[in-house]
Amino acid sequence: MRCYAVTENGKPLQPMEFPTPEPVGEQVLIEVTHCGVCHSDLHIWEGGYDMGGGKRLSLKDRGVTLPVVMGHEIVGRVAKLGPDAEGRGLKPGTLYAVFPWLGCGTCAACRSEDDNMCAVKPAALGVYAPGGYGSHVIVPSPRHLVDISGLDPAVAATYSCSGITVYSAIAKVMPMEPDEPLVLIGAGGLGLNAISILKALGHHNIVVVDTSPTKRDAAMVAGATQVVDGAGDPAAVTKRIVEACGGPVLAVIDLVNASSTTRSAFDALRKGGKLILVGLFGGELTLPLPIMPTRALTVRGSYVGSPKELRALIGLVRQGKVAPLPVRTEPVANINDVLNDLLAGNIVGRVVVTQPGA
Ligand SMILES: [Zn+2]
Ligand SMILES: [Zn+2]
Repeated sequence: MRCYAVTENGKPLQPMEFPTPEPVGEQVLIEVTHCGVCHSDLHIWEGGYDMGGGKRLSLKDRGVTLPVVMGHEIVGRVAKLGPDAEGRGLKPGTLYAVFPWLGCGTCAACRSEDDNMCAVKPAALGVYAPGGYGSHVIVPSPRHLVDISGLDPAVAATYSCSGITVYSAIAKVMPMEPDEPLVLIGAGGLGLNAISILKALGHHNIVVVDTSPTKRDAAMVAGATQVVDGAGDPAAVTKRIVEACGGPVLAVIDLVNASSTTRSAFDALRKGGKLILVGLFGGELTLPLPIMPTRALTVRGSYVGSPKELRALIGLVRQGKVAPLPVRTEPVANINDVLNDLLAGNIVGRVVVTQPGA
């Protein structure tokens, strides 16, 4: 198999050749056709995350060893089945989205298809195991594949990361009355995706906060009910959110998750309010403790999503209700240019790299 691999953090990815792995047990060998280039690839490429307060999370300390074949928004075809994957309904020639947020495969979380919540051993494709910037990937089980036949594979690739990330965050505040204001902080790719999924779920009071007027305009075009300027002092932003919602709010999904955004979001919550933290900007939030019980508040993190959520999201897409994200395809050979453009902030929507002949 051919791949582009990180051999040194922050340095250009190198083309490499490895023996194509043989699927064993219920594993499935997938021939990759498409792979989305995600913002978190920049962190994997550089080897870590800023945690705020001058702290840094090193991926090397978390067991990520070089060379790394990145790419976790994978679509491809079945190339070979392990002996125990036979007769499990996988169809040759059909395109599948790959669920990449794998765990140990045997703990209670993994067995109940909450693989992304596995605390035993992270094994995410494109991070801990070879990902979609290679010609082939090994998937542990047929249950990690979702049939996307009939859908645009470049768009479908993005559901495995940005799609289920917002779908899972939304699921944590539902059910809600469709007219109840739901606040989204951040109108970047995740925010626009969240608007389109909320609309597909029948929710129609979506208040979007962003500091950028261009992004607020994009949110309105995508179907936001109202937009709020997120610039300035958090207390002023809280006031604007509460005004726009006609009072304190029941649910905020913070797709930025910086000290300033979580502050303004938390202070806007009403009794029973939920704040879901998704973004990885970094920083800290000080909680006024007596208010947590007296207002019965929830502050909860949400990390990617589960195979069940990927199937549910693709089911929703099949109903034709989810507006597609703008995507552009590039040959995988251009991966270094794409990563540099992403780093420089020059990419609108999503770039999906394709394998030769895809
Ligand atoms: Zn991602
Ligand atoms: Zn597990």
